[in-house]
Amino acid sequence: MAFSDDTRNELARVVPAARCCRVAELSAFYDLDGMLMGNAKQYLDFTTSAPVVARKVLTLLRSLYPEISTQILVRRSRSRRTQICTVRVLQTKEAQAVYGEMKEQRYTAKGEYLRKKCCRRAYLRGAFLGHGSITNPERTYHLEFSTDHSQAAARILSTIHSFHLAAGVTQRKGSLVVYLKDGEEIVTLLNLMGAHQALLQFENVRVLKEMRNQVNRLVNCETANVDKTIKAAMAQVEDIQLIEKHIGLDELPPKLRQVAKLRLENPYASLKELGDMCVPPMSKSGINYRIRQLREKAAEIARLYQ
Ligand SMILES: [Zn+2]
Repeated sequence: MAFSDDTRNELARVVPAARCCRVAELSAFYDLDGMLMGNAKQYLDFTTSAPVVARKVLTLLRSLYPEISTQILVRRSRSRRTQICTVRVLQTKEAQAVYGEMKEQRYTAKGEYLRKKCCRRAYLRGAFLGHGSITNPERTYHLEFSTDHSQAAARILSTIHSFHLAAGVTQRKGSLVVYLKDGEEIVTLLNLMGAHQALLQFENVRVLKEMRNQVNRLVNCETANVDKTIKAAMAQVEDIQLIEKHIGLDELPPKLRQVAKLRLENPYASLKELGDMCVPPMSKSGINYRIRQLREKAAEIARLYQ
């Protein structure tokens, strides 16, 4: 998960300049892990198991609403393996104001979520910080957001689609997983979220992988060709040896005899090279014609003697 953690840590340090985007990013945290709490809904809580995410939420809250009071609550998860951090906005009025502003920014008149592009980028960054992960590109290309909230999953999906990226959605152990599988599209998304270091790292791996694949393809292709040439030459040598054994090369017409001898002496020469060795030189198709004659003669012998 090192690559994923690096990406998360990088995104945790990105704080958007525009106020609208900070609200949008905070609203992603709210959608995924936020709740109005208390009998009178007097608290606004953001809960996360990642301390860097808690710090990011706190940074956003303080920069947006310097006057509010916050509290950090830390407890062990039920499995006791991880810590759960809650960032709590304390006073009722303030909590409602923050909540209200996040809600207000959401829908356009057309019912679209988050009207501005800059805010949609910030929203995806927040969603990734809260519930995203990315596989090390050395293994495979995969970036995903996983959540139990179907509404949040739908928002993430439509926000990604708004950038013309082909995200898919699937279910895993009761959670909804919004994912991208295409290397190029993952790069675009990393760029949109502002994970430039991760993007460079991802691209480096991708370029190397592509080159390796290409080299492998070339090597395979070349090996196949070389194999074919060698196999053909070996078959020709066998034909000629069969003729030599049963009737002797001297019994062949002069041109055929010359080609047969040259092939025996130069088993790996190409047809063109053989042609150049002939006196007088012979064209490639001339050589080919003689090779065929030799093959027919050998086949004839094989029928007679074997
Ligand atoms: Zn914005």
